[in-house]
Amino acid sequence: MKTNVLILSGVLLSIASSGFAQEQSKYPEPMPMKPQMSEYWTPQPPVITPGTTTANAVMSPPSDAIVLFDGKDLSEWQNTKGEAAGWTVHDGVVTVNKKAGDILTKQSFEDFQLHIEWQIPENIAGSNQGRGNSGIFLQDKYEIQILDCYNNETYVNGQTGSIYKQTPPTVNPMRKPGEWNVYDIIYKAPTFTKDGQFRTHPTVTVILNGVVVQNNTTIIGTTQYIGFPKIIPHGEGPLRLQSHGDPSEPISFRNIWLREL
Ligand code: MG
Repeated sequence: MKTNVLILSGVLLSIASSGFAQEQSKYPEPMPMKPQMSEYWTPQPPVITPGTTTANAVMSPPSDAIVLFDGKDLSEWQNTKGEAAGWTVHDGVVTVNKKAGDILTKQSFEDFQLHIEWQIPENIAGSNQGRGNSGIFLQDKYEIQILDCYNNETYVNGQTGSIYKQTPPTVNPMRKPGEWNVYDIIYKAPTFTKDGQFRTHPTVTVILNGVVVQNNTTIIGTTQYIGFPKIIPHGEGPLRLQSHGDPSEPISFRNIWLREL
């Protein structure tokens, strides 16, 4: 009898302890993401020479464009707190003020054609992502990278013309520091299902200095510095220009206009 009680206790104990073990099961956590995990360096896009332009050749906006910067003031822009944009307007251009942070358009947009010109300063220093880094966030979510990629190697999905950390440009047609680069960007906004997934992805065509570097490319989510793209449902959104924290000389912009499509 005593033996039976002991066996029964043992069985009960083992059932109880196995239940306990199930409650305490530990599964592996995903490995913490580091920036380098979403950066790749090969193959590098071929370097090509774009057509030439004279230093002051500015094409005026078409008559149906929303002019976002005409060289005079930043009245169409604000900082991330909704206050006056604190970048420096001079000589018909606007130069990034790194202390003032990013700036955004006051207006929001859906599908559009954007024209924007930008200049890496002639005395630029630094390397990799720390050399003339800026960017244009479409609908405040998806960054088209700006970087001095003239004789400056970096991970290819972080080059100028890339959808940042997603799709590298097909080629590298950058002009050298001191000259003006021209982006023409055609963007189609996403639509979303009720449960917050893409019904249709955003897509973008990017022409840099007259050369197609993204051809109706699907954007797979937000452009994260660390980690994977996210799908964040949104409606119309502003353009955001990046004030990057790297120590190199700030870049300048001019002749910014947009046509709603
Ligand atoms: Mg950037």
